[in-house]
Amino acid sequence: MAKPFLIVGGGIGGFGCALALARKDFSSIVLEQAPEFGEIGAGLQLGPNVFRMFDKLGVTGEIDKYAVYPKGLMMRDCVTGEEVTTLPLNEAFLKRFKNPYGVIHRVDLHRVLMEECQKLPDQIQLMNGRKVVDIDDHGDHVAARTEAGETFEGCALIGADGLWSGVRAKIVGDGKPNVSGHITYRAVLKTSDMPEELRWQMMVIWAGEKTHLVQYPVRGGEMFNLVATFHSSKFSEGWDSFGDPAELNERFAAACAPVRLLLSKIESWRMWVLCDRPPIRDWTKGNITLLGDAAHPMLQYLAQGANMALEDGVCLAGKLTKARGDWNAAFLAYQKERYLRTARVQLTAKLYGEVYHASGATRDLRNAVLGERTPEQAFESMAWLYDPPEIGE
Ligand SMILES: Cc1cc2nc3c(=O)[nH]c(=O)nc-3n(C[C@H](O)[C@H](O)[C@H](O)COP(=O)(O)OP(=O)(O)OC[C@H]3O[C@@H](n4cnc5c(N)ncnc54)[C@H](O)[C@@H]3O)c2cc1C
Repeated sequence: MAKPFLIVGGGIGGFGCALALARKDFSSIVLEQAPEFGEIGAGLQLGPNVFRMFDKLGVTGEIDKYAVYPKGLMMRDCVTGEEVTTLPLNEAFLKRFKNPYGVIHRVDLHRVLMEECQKLPDQIQLMNGRKVVDIDDHGDHVAARTEAGETFEGCALIGADGLWSGVRAKIVGDGKPNVSGHITYRAVLKTSDMPEELRWQMMVIWAGEKTHLVQYPVRGGEMFNLVATFHSSKFSEGWDSFGDPAELNERFAAACAPVRLLLSKIESWRMWVLCDRPPIRDWTKGNITLLGDAAHPMLQYLAQGANMALEDGVCLAGKLTKARGDWNAAFLAYQKERYLRTARVQLTAKLYGEVYHASGATRDLRNAVLGERTPEQAFESMAWLYDPPEIGE
């Protein structure tokens, strides 16, 4: 019997990959280090591009139960509070991209993928509490050894083990990710605690100097997801001196009253030190490849990291069907197709961060240029991302 694929990492990317493989009749074992499979309690934006992947993964109906479909993507100036621009997520958007723009709680997306995997026990084995500490490519098979000393064998291995990927360390070996100097605080707020005048059914970015705040509803509108990001000079001095809520308030001191009100509503924030890497062309070695953040970690400013991870899985499964057992050839074809698309997202995400955090003339220009755009112009500016050529065929 053919050996299964080994997938290291049971995050959104790992589960999406296992499901995509199963839809093409390939079996896999997902090895996750955490004692329980799970995701953090925060929101996630879903571009129209990822809804195409949901169709291919057969989960659109389930996702639809948990997603919220905002009425627009709004940018407001964090200092004046004024609206800069709103991209309407209306019929015209739907007609242009044939799919909606959604937001979802991460736990819900992760659970939908996991439950779909669990429906296919003959093809997908989900194994938690398995921290992979070593991998080997023996040519005719691969092996992954866990911290507890178990060894799993497979026909080929996919590292979906995230930003700090050990698989990447072994096959690419390009050191640690870049610390961006940007810090993010995340929280969810019950809608009843949200100021009534700010309960917009929109994805809103309050863009300020070296800071921005994102808000949008999740869980059928029961909660709001809040993400506050700022540059931290303290952090750049060393790993031990990262910020706290007092620093958050200090960084947003110049923000308009609604933003400061929103920040004051949260008692405890979870903090992330944002990291990325420059794009690379080659993330495959023999019968081992990477996927998601392990392959192309990015800053979150385009809200596409998980979207890209799911596209990766679908693309990879498509290439494997044409491989006739030559997994290395399929991995190379997959990375060739994904390289420039994911590189563009990585690089554009960085640029968006500069636009969100602009000051002086750059901020004035941003507000003027974005303010003048028609919805049609805004749609076309996103077409490369939201309307890509077919993936996974
Ligand atoms: C603030 C913020 C906001 C974001 N917003 C969005 C958004 O709106 N939309 C979007 O698409 N993306 C967003 N992203 C990006 C998104 O979160 C990531 O790109 C996505 O989660 C990557 O998924 P992944 O499966 O590749 O990696 P991960 O989610 O990191 O999963 C990796 C898994 O591998 C496991 N693992 C690691 N090492 C081992 C090991 N040795 N053995 C076994 N298991 C291992 C980990 O425990 C983990 O479960 C955001 C990111 C941040 C920081």
